[in-house]
Amino acid sequence: EAFNANVAAAAALNAFIVTTPEHAIAAAERVDADRAAGKALGLMAGVPIGMKDLFATKGVQTTAASHILEGFVPQYESTVSQKLWDAGAGMLGKLNLDQFAMGSSNETSYFGDVANPWRRNDGGNAKLAPGGSSGGSSAAVAARLAPAATGTDTGGSIRQPAAFTGISGIKPTYGRCSRWGIVAFASSLDQAGPMARSVEDCAIMLEAMAGFDPKDSTSLDMPVPNWSTALNGDLRGKKVGIPREYRMDGTDADILKSWEDGIAWLKDAGAEVVDISLPHTKYALPAYYIVAPAEASSNLARYDGVRYGLRDLPEGAGLQDMYAATRAAGFGDEVKRRILIGTYVLSAGFYDAYYTQAMKVRTLIQRDFDAAFAQVDVILAPTTPTAAFGLGENVDDPLAMYLNDVFAVPASLAGLPAMSVPAGLNSQGLPLGLQLIGNRFDEQGVLNAGLAIE
Ligand code: GLN
Repeated sequence: EAFNANVAAAAALNAFIVTTPEHAIAAAERVDADRAAGKALGLMAGVPIGMKDLFATKGVQTTAASHILEGFVPQYESTVSQKLWDAGAGMLGKLNLDQFAMGSSNETSYFGDVANPWRRNDGGNAKLAPGGSSGGSSAAVAARLAPAATGTDTGGSIRQPAAFTGISGIKPTYGRCSRWGIVAFASSLDQAGPMARSVEDCAIMLEAMAGFDPKDSTSLDMPVPNWSTALNGDLRGKKVGIPREYRMDGTDADILKSWEDGIAWLKDAGAEVVDISLPHTKYALPAYYIVAPAEASSNLARYDGVRYGLRDLPEGAGLQDMYAATRAAGFGDEVKRRILIGTYVLSAGFYDAYYTQAMKVRTLIQRDFDAAFAQVDVILAPTTPTAAFGLGENVDDPLAMYLNDVFAVPASLAGLPAMSVPAGLNSQGLPLGLQLIGNRFDEQGVLNAGLAIE
């Protein structure tokens, strides 16, 4: 009975779109056979993980949580998932997410909301958002349904859900993990990364996921460091920057308090803490919400009713009608909003006013970080301006929803490695996350500072 109650409670989170226990069992059997044969075992040997349903998995439905891809079964495996299987991991199932990874609460999924396993300590039972877009990943790891899961982060989708559920997650430097076989949202920003219970688990899993891939033209042709073996929370001689522009109006007092705690913990680990300035921070969010939809509108042009998933072909209709009917029925409201914004900012009359301007802002933000990393080794800031909010609370207010990404998007626009680590609970008993941002290629510095906080 207790077991069945646990299964029901786990199912009620709605973290998985499909479960694939046979995949995980087969991986464990391969590891057993390798061990018996005296073969060396991979970094992830026998670890059953959850896979965000944005990664193409051969023979297993891959939907991006959209009706338009319902029933799509890829004939190929994404590079990142293949690397995980090669390292000995197996798959428990495909995890729910915001549709096409667009959202911050997992409420844009065609397959329903995901519930955060945490509750406020007010005696009520109000369901909270697990964050997004990797909300199935964060909920599954936080509820101990999986020891680790993959996420993707375009503008915070690993870090914000990790913060909302009290787990760790790292977005590596842009290009570290191959984008090949990951359903594209905004290609110049998309990065895969691990979400897990500890910084060390993230380091191990990232090592297995990363590496050059000739099939991705923006893949970094650099060796993958042994982040997990070099992991060390001793920060003597390191400088940590505290960006003053992240002290924004509207940030919860509890969040500011946890930031102070984080500063103290890093000092205890030997770091020198210095104030820094990232002057263009306030322009990052508007620039992101131009660049990301612009790229999305282009990437999503491929869903036409011909090549994948859903096809809506009204009686007597022509090709254009089929495109229109398929896309009208297949895409959710948030996805349509992004396509409309994206095509608008890319249109001939408005391109310079919006897209070109946003790209200039992107350069200024990159330069802010370059100047900061001439002074400091790593930057500490909150991951989010609030703790987990209620399901339904922001759903009718897209701007309020977008504002939750305010601390996450600058590192995305600059392509920098950034991690969220758990940093205590707020007065309502909900987890808070702190964010560590590192210089290009310096995942090690980010992980080490994360370990000092954890
Ligand atoms: N919440 C952001 C958005 O909706 C980020 C999503 C993501 O990182 N995939 O665009």
